[in-house]
Amino acid sequence: MELSRAIYMLFELLVSCRRGVRQGVPLRRGAFLSVLRSVRFCLFAAMLVGVSSVASSQELSSDIVTVTAVRTSGDNKESRFVLDVSKPIAFSVFALADPYRLVIDLPSLSFQMAHGMGQVERAMVRNFRFGSFGETRSRVVLDLSGPAKVSKAYNLPAVDGNAARAVIELVHVSEREFSEQALRDVIRIKADGKSLEKTVPVREKPIPEHEKGSDARPLVVLDPGHGGIDTGATSKRGLKESKLVLSFAKALKKKLEADGHVRVVMTREKDEFISLSKRVAFAQAHNANLFVSIHADTVRESYVRGATVYTLSDRASDQVAAKLAQQENRSDLLAGLELEEKDDVVADILIDLTRRETANHSSLYSRTLVGALKSSIKLSKTPERSAGFKVLKAPDIPSILLELGYLSNDADQSALTSEAWRKKAIDSIAKSLRTFFQRQSANSSGLFVSGSG
Ligand SMILES: [Zn+2]
Repeated sequence: MELSRAIYMLFELLVSCRRGVRQGVPLRRGAFLSVLRSVRFCLFAAMLVGVSSVASSQELSSDIVTVTAVRTSGDNKESRFVLDVSKPIAFSVFALADPYRLVIDLPSLSFQMAHGMGQVERAMVRNFRFGSFGETRSRVVLDLSGPAKVSKAYNLPAVDGNAARAVIELVHVSEREFSEQALRDVIRIKADGKSLEKTVPVREKPIPEHEKGSDARPLVVLDPGHGGIDTGATSKRGLKESKLVLSFAKALKKKLEADGHVRVVMTREKDEFISLSKRVAFAQAHNANLFVSIHADTVRESYVRGATVYTLSDRASDQVAAKLAQQENRSDLLAGLELEEKDDVVADILIDLTRRETANHSSLYSRTLVGALKSSIKLSKTPERSAGFKVLKAPDIPSILLELGYLSNDADQSALTSEAWRKKAIDSIAKSLRTFFQRQSANSSGLFVSGSG
């Protein structure tokens, strides 16, 4: 039992180490760093293999859900993928292209398969990988033999000595149907009684609002920047960014709750310090559909004014964006936190799977938000910018950072403290969220059957 797990991990280790070194080659300047990173990962993976037997005996005693077997049946036209689990679990499924893959996101699981890998790699499943994805989740990735869509996904309870099962049924589709439909679908299945045996046909009509459970609404995480020991920027008049953005976020939350189109949670509701990675983990733990970080920073160029929406990119769109990201990313250091190496390593392995898809959604929301804000409040000259903000790095959650304005600019400072300005800004953000999620649910054919929050 432990042997197959250890062998698989060793296999992944070898593949990843080779991949890491290969990727290092074309990046001349980054080659050294890449090699360092691969070495770091290899050490980490080797450590995992080494401690896996210890870890699993610890896991047995906790109430973490265990996967006891995995198998595939069927043929190249129709396949059924089954996870035997110690109790029913919430999960979500989506497809990726180039190569064709199916990704299954699950709560944190302990994989203790009694059967070898040979049970899985058959029918439409070419290859199978699994592992932890962040601190609170696990992920299974299936490499598929061709374009396919999920025809049904459901949970079966344990009966007559058989384990509970998470079941995903796949059918082969044309490349066109794959790119038009399957690529856009995210299917979410709940663990609880009501939806336990519910199947989700992909061609199902959109579900009318009144038939959805209250938690079917998309979840938005509002992230008021800074807090506690990290007060953020301070204006000439002594206005503190951390305070200003908290009260703005609270007012926005109130408005969104009154409108009722989305659910809202906040990373902080009082003046406390929260590390950047905890903010990201918070959004992931809540299975958020969108992450909105709210700031009002200072920049050296005091003429820069107006609201700006930032998205994540490896290379900053401009100097102002680059400096701002640098400033924001120092938050954890300011608070005396150690760098969290482990998180980075885990992210390196799996980040590329979903990052591109998520980036598209982030830019789409950025555009929608700028469109809504431009008719109500002053925007900066280039209202859409990008840079390497740590807080926007959830690979699977569309994320943006909104600078309401700059405390280094006098006109902005006056605006930020005006009630009339605040109301206009909040109304526009509410409108942008409505537009964004309406478009998303139209695209996904109403597949957000149940939120898993
Ligand atoms: Zn800030």
